[in-house]
Order: sequence, then C-alpha cells, then structure tokens
Amino acid sequence: MMTGRTHDLAAFTAMTIVMSYSQIPTISLGTALIAFAANMVGGLAPDIDQPSAKLYSNIRGGSILAKIIDPLLGSHRLLSHSILGLVLFGFLSRLLLDASKGVLLVNMDIVWWAFMIGFVSHLITDSFTKEGVPWLFPIPIRFGIPPLRFLRLKTGGAMEKSVIFPGLLLINGYFIYSNYDKFLQLLRSLV
Ligand SMILES: [Zn+2]
Repeated sequence: MMTGRTHDLAAFTAMTIVMSYSQIPTISLGTALIAFAANMVGGLAPDIDQPSAKLYSNIRGGSILAKIIDPLLGSHRLLSHSILGLVLFGFLSRLLLDASKGVLLVNMDIVWWAFMIGFVSHLITDSFTKEGVPWLFPIPIRFGIPPLRFLRLKTGGAMEKSVIFPGLLLINGYFIYSNYDKFLQLLRSLV
C-alpha cells in the first residue's frame, strides 16, 4: 500500500480526470459532498485487509474492528486488491446505496461511481509499489507498473513523498486548469 494521504489524493485525481472527459450532470450540493466522501472511502477501501490502514484509525473502535476482520480476510493484499474484489465491492456498495435511497436524497448513481473510481485508483496506485497487486486473484500472480520489481516504489519512501505525491498534485492542476470552465460551472451549480 501507499500511505493513506497518497490514496486520498489519487482517488481525487482519478475523479478529476474522469470528470474532465465526461459530461457532468447538474448535481445538488448534498450529492457532491457525499460523492466526495464516497470517493475518499473508495480510495481507502481495498486496504480493509490491512489492520494498520488509515481506514481504521479514522473510526472509533477501529483498532478492535481491524483485529476482528484481519483473520477473516487472510493475508494482505489479496481479494480486495483484485478485479474480483472490485466487482464484489461494487455489487455490495450498490446494494447498500440502493437500500439508503429513500433515506438520503442524493443521486446514488453519482455516489456509486465516485466510490468505484476511488477503488480503481487505489489498485492502480498500489501497482506502482514493490509488492504489486494480484489483479487476477485467485490466480497468484502480482502485477506491477513497471513490470520489473526493482524499478517500483517502496511504500512511504522518499519517492512516494517527493515524486508521486507532487506528481498527483500536478496532474490535478493540469486537468482542472484545462477544463476550467467545466469545473467552474459545476461549482456554480452547487451554490
Ligand atoms: Zn492497498
């Protein structure tokens, strides 16, 4: 895994890129805020199998929950870091969102997409680390970008802090700047 902060930023960056290439529908402020939160949760969700994950330190009683979940999911970076896991989480989150449709007056389709975009961004970001990602789990092969392990990053290392994090900021800046009108229009429609 990368650090939580990198995953948050990667999720947001993925959202910025997707929005740059799509027609953004008119959404309410409530939908925007919940979609933002869902994007962050999606960006951290695959690390549900890591007891040290930022996900757990963010919730009350998280460390106890982590100890309970840990043995259930087995070793780290398996199911939740794969296409199978992506489909499973996508299906379950869809059920959860559909169930809360009557309670929350927000566009659940947008919220779901924001979650999924965050989730995918996590798997891509982790692919840059030495450990790689078992995209095709249960097939026990770990894939990485680039494919040669020694060229990949160490979690929380200097490269992550000095190259990946600022790099993501730059990508964000680039996409927001080149689609300035679109993002401004979105902000305006919210207030
Ligand atoms: Zn991870």
